[in-house]
Amino acid sequence: AGLPAERLACCVGGGERHTSDRASRIEQPFESSARHGRLRAMTDGHGFLAADLLDPAEIAVERSLRPRSLDEYLGQREVKAGLSVLLQAARQRGEAADHILLHGPPGLGKTTLATIIARELGVNIRYTSGPAIERAGDLAAVLTALDERDVLFIDEIHRLNPAVEEILYPAMEDCALDVMLGKGPSARSLRLTLRPFTLVGATTRAGRISGPLRDRFGAVYRLDFYAEEDLRAIVRRSAAILGLEVTDDAAAAIAARGRATPRIVNRLLKRVRDHAEVHGDGRVTRAAVDEAMGVLEIDAEGLDATDRRLLAAIVGKFGGGPVGVAALAAILAEEVETVEDVYEPYLLRIGFLDRTPQGRVATDRARAHLAALGYDVPPRRTERDRSLWETTAPGGPAQGLAVPVDEA
Ligand code: ADP
Repeated sequence: AGLPAERLACCVGGGERHTSDRASRIEQPFESSARHGRLRAMTDGHGFLAADLLDPAEIAVERSLRPRSLDEYLGQREVKAGLSVLLQAARQRGEAADHILLHGPPGLGKTTLATIIARELGVNIRYTSGPAIERAGDLAAVLTALDERDVLFIDEIHRLNPAVEEILYPAMEDCALDVMLGKGPSARSLRLTLRPFTLVGATTRAGRISGPLRDRFGAVYRLDFYAEEDLRAIVRRSAAILGLEVTDDAAAAIAARGRATPRIVNRLLKRVRDHAEVHGDGRVTRAAVDEAMGVLEIDAEGLDATDRRLLAAIVGKFGGGPVGVAALAAILAEEVETVEDVYEPYLLRIGFLDRTPQGRVATDRARAHLAALGYDVPPRRTERDRSLWETTAPGGPAQGLAVPVDEA
């Protein structure tokens, strides 16, 4: 049913096809301001880690470090095994691959994987993000510009506006686009046919994706934090691409401080390289790592000043917790979403933080870590103290700050 996609592009407007710049679509990730906001928040407040993202030369370096095939993509063995079967089957049938949802904390390789998926399928990829698609027409324009079997990558797909999401359902299910023509009583809807495509959605919040959208993905993969040996391999791979000499103990030290996240490991490697070039002979040694980490204020667990501020606030100001995430975000002057997506996942993983129905709690390990770094760690607020506080001061800080946890 409907018009060929060529015609349809004119109907929805703004969807003119760029066959000439097909190649340029590859490796041109869309950078939304929201994404920058999130990345910037991943710093220690001194801008050391953020600075490289604002520098075009560094962005080019970051791109050169991106694995280009499933073989080059290290770690995540289960995801790779599943994907490899799915992609091979699609290739053999000559059809577009099923829609794929990737979820997991930032920097674990979702965008990279989307690019690899397109490469392995031998098709183009178009990058966009949930907040960037404001109106249904924007999405219609993107969809109609896709070639047969192309990949459309939507980052932060949980932030799609509901009106836009509705357009996506028939597109994902039946390759159909419902367009409203005219307004008022004479308005009518026209169903247009799209070329088959593969949607790759990425999100840090699987729980925030609506049921109907989630159900339309044929494959859902969760990316997990990386094991240290995989991170060491990533350091060695990146060092080889950058032409750096890295000793084994230096690679291990960077991997140990990389928050189990490839993006951070790569960024630390680049900062250590700077340090080694300025203060040493350019070789990335254990001493260069230690010196650079000292300057960046990254401790042995890979925590930066903001992580420590977060833990110190729970321990010092809130008697160890529980404390609501809104109060923590206010103390750090960050968005709640940034605290939940960027800082908490790793602290939860290393057992420094617990999420309880009443709020966040700093664990004994976190307390010991802070104490070893010389922080003042007051005794934990006991259950008795807490009930006393809550009954004598209803609506006081302890209650007012305990915001319920909305997702596990
Ligand atoms: P996300 O989209 O999940 O935030 P990215 O795909 O942008 O993460 O990955 C961040 C960086 O980490 C990439 O530029 C890439 O260099 C590196 N990276 C991610 N995953 C891997 C991997 N499995 N092996 C090697 N490098 C990786």
